[in-house]
Amino acid sequence: MTVSANIREFKTHIPSHVQLIAVSKTKPTEAILEAYQAGQRLFGENKVQELVAKQPVLPSDIEWHLIGHLQSNKVKYIAPFIAMIQSVDSLRLLESIEKEASKHNRSIKCLLQVHIASEATKFGMDETELHHCIDAIKAGQFPNIRICGLMGMATNTTDMGLVHKEFSHLHALFQSIQSTWTTNPEFTELSMGMSSDYTEAIACGSTMIRVGSLLFGER
Ligand SMILES: *Cc1c(COP(=O)(O)O)cnc(C)c1O
Repeated sequence: MTVSANIREFKTHIPSHVQLIAVSKTKPTEAILEAYQAGQRLFGENKVQELVAKQPVLPSDIEWHLIGHLQSNKVKYIAPFIAMIQSVDSLRLLESIEKEASKHNRSIKCLLQVHIASEATKFGMDETELHHCIDAIKAGQFPNIRICGLMGMATNTTDMGLVHKEFSHLHALFQSIQSTWTTNPEFTELSMGMSSDYTEAIACGSTMIRVGSLLFGER
């Protein structure tokens, strides 16, 4: 099947309240354009260098989401155009995003990435760091940042029981933050689920899935 057909087919079996981020990392701009022609507008990349090479040559109404670990010194390259940074994993990074967003007179949407997997290798904050960030945001330190929710990645395993447990945990954390942060009506997104586990993620309350290989083929 072509990328366009994959996108159309995939969209028929995800609920309408769940947004699809097409993860185009390592894929050529031709493949992205095929997805675009099928109506896809939200794309995810995990590397700044690759994103800044692709963005200028593709349609300007694409909403780019950064989903990979971001170094503070690289925020400046994406600040002019990025729609959402999903992989915010430190206070230091928030500070850098704030500085660059204000330089460009923009307000940048962000998700706070939480470490939920049992592997030590995945990025994301523990709950102490997360609450530390939220306290700083509530104190008004980041006027050019809009915190729209949480992001997480489950353990890379075929044990769907474990995946379910991790996603449920993140959903409970998301709900407890949302219910107490009534001054932030934008805290509505829970980004979890990829090709191998998006069904479990949706069952556990995901509002945004990040799917690559199922749409574009194996990397
Ligand atoms: C690569 C990647 C995805 C998509 O992975 P697939 O298995 O290709 O669907 C989702 N989220 C993040 C953070 C990624 O790096």
